[in-house]
Amino acid sequence: MPVSVRLALPKWFCDEKGCAQSVFAERLEWLPSYNRRSSRLDSQIRALAFSMSALQTERVCSQFGIRISHDAVLRLVYKTGVDESASPFRRNR
Ligand SMILES: [Zn+2]
Repeated sequence: MPVSVRLALPKWFCDEKGCAQSVFAERLEWLPSYNRRSSRLDSQIRALAFSMSALQTERVCSQFGIRISHDAVLRLVYKTGVDESASPFRRNR
């Protein structure tokens, strides 16, 4: 069963005219802006993705109630910084 969390965070508005940041909202360390998954869940999915294929990761996640497509798994892998010297696919050996 998927778990979803609904957050209601306050917003603050600046009354200063010409303020570049007119709306303020509380940032959550464990939930980057505009993310649908927590940082911890992303790191768990990333651990699965680096030990099996994206399709297998999608299936395993589905078994745990985590809805993520294999394309989203791949996007998560691509945006992970990997040390080039540790990569088996590095270009200049
Ligand atoms: Zn302001």
